[in-house]
Amino acid sequence: MISSQILQSISNILGPEGLRTRPEDLEPYSKDATRLIFMPDAVAFPRNTRDVSKILAIANAEGFPVIPRGAGSGKSGGALPVEGGLVLSLEKLNRILEIDEENLIAKVEPGVITADLQEAVEKHGLFYPPDPASIKISTIGGNVAECAGGLRAVKYGVTRDYVLGLTVVLPGGEILKTGVETAKGVVGYDLTRLIVGSEGTLAVITAITLRLIPMPAAKGTMIAYFDEMTSAVRIVSALTRRKVIPTILEFMDRLSLECVRDEMARPFPSTAKAMLLIEVDGDPRQVENDVEKVGQVCREAGALRFEEAFHKEEVERLWDARRNVSEALFKLKPHKISEDIVVPRNRLADFIGFLEALSLSSGLPLPAFGHAGDGNIHVNLMHDQADPNETGKLEGIIKKVFEKVLELGGTISGEHGIGLTKSPYLSMEIPKPAFDLMIRLKNAFDPKGILNPGKIFVEPE
Ligand SMILES: Cc1cc2nc3c(=O)[nH]c(=O)nc-3n(C[C@H](O)[C@H](O)[C@H](O)COP(=O)(O)OP(=O)(O)OC[C@H]3O[C@@H](n4cnc5c(N)ncnc54)[C@H](O)[C@@H]3O)c2cc1C
Repeated sequence: MISSQILQSISNILGPEGLRTRPEDLEPYSKDATRLIFMPDAVAFPRNTRDVSKILAIANAEGFPVIPRGAGSGKSGGALPVEGGLVLSLEKLNRILEIDEENLIAKVEPGVITADLQEAVEKHGLFYPPDPASIKISTIGGNVAECAGGLRAVKYGVTRDYVLGLTVVLPGGEILKTGVETAKGVVGYDLTRLIVGSEGTLAVITAITLRLIPMPAAKGTMIAYFDEMTSAVRIVSALTRRKVIPTILEFMDRLSLECVRDEMARPFPSTAKAMLLIEVDGDPRQVENDVEKVGQVCREAGALRFEEAFHKEEVERLWDARRNVSEALFKLKPHKISEDIVVPRNRLADFIGFLEALSLSSGLPLPAFGHAGDGNIHVNLMHDQADPNETGKLEGIIKKVFEKVLELGGTISGEHGIGLTKSPYLSMEIPKPAFDLMIRLKNAFDPKGILNPGKIFVEPE
């Protein structure tokens, strides 16, 4: 418990509006997209880097946990106050500080909503490509802390590829600038890259310098349906062999499709077992060529139906259906464990075949969808927590999925992070020497362990 005297000191820094302690005010900050619940002692709303620094200095001296939080859309429990303490909401640090058209950079505070930044840079003919499906709610700070991926990662990469520099506050309150504001820079260790994806366990990010690129002139959106899941995912390698790198190549299996049936722009074929949603971009001639090639590849692979050239509103509906599929899966069962594994693109068909067999043998629906273009599939273990027969199978299924992924040369998390929910499995992938080095790095940043405790690392048995 944080004492009332300490809470008073924090309130003196932030003003009475900057600190909340009433249970009804804490409740929204006790959960995230995992739907797990842990109550904090208090929530603080700093307005600038200095506020963050003062709060962290107090926390370090007094030894209470501080949990940085963006929008709470995280899927691995990273923002949950598992040991109580102070949730540090960055939502009031929400200014776009600068969009620099000559140097192609943007400077932003962490609480800016991802879609708002994209819209703002588009007005300048510029493009910030990372687009997690949570784009309308997630914050840039949360994206950086998780190294969020998203739909366009297949062509444009992930958040890490766009972060040039950071302003961060270390657990003792020290303010640090990392990285550069130039297109290049190799001075010293790359602390920026270390902090990106560190899930709020090393430092609190208070400002971010991002790389932008010019907006592509044209886009083409296509949709293809298949009567076999494995035929659909084989398209991914087939396109790569034909030297087409789509901007987006999303996959949905039959169960996922059923859950967003009413949201789809057009009805889908009754025998469809899988859908691919494909977008290409570039100059108009290139887009025309790529659309042609994608059509050929899909038809050769026996697509049940291939459609292209949607109206703007139809395209929006398709993307909305895709963005909503994660929530829509709750139509199948009241609870879900969502894994976001990645396998090499040319092993996707093997993985999907394995998953179909696992769903049959376990008797649990395991709908899959996701970023097939980069081998990143969201596997969902739908279940009812009130049914011990179902909950008893979960641990075994997760282990089998991860073992298969590692056997195929993949990784157990492509973008959702380790946080709380995947920490028991970290050592399946990370060998002991690397694990120990990570612990030493954590201790160097945060010797008292006040920043986001209980996340990422569980000592291997
Ligand atoms: C419907 C849905 C779809 C999604 N789709 C995708 C997707 O396509 N790709 C993808 O990558 N993710 C996806 N996500 C997951 C999630 O949106 C991302 O992980 C996102 O980056 C989290 O941002 P947030 O602002 O909500 O962060 P939070 O959930 O609040 O926090 C996430 C982590 O970041 C830390 N953190 C937050 N802000 C800071 C800061 N300023 N300094 C230090 N640490 C900080 C927290 O401590 C926590 O560990 C999806 C989530 C949902 C609900």
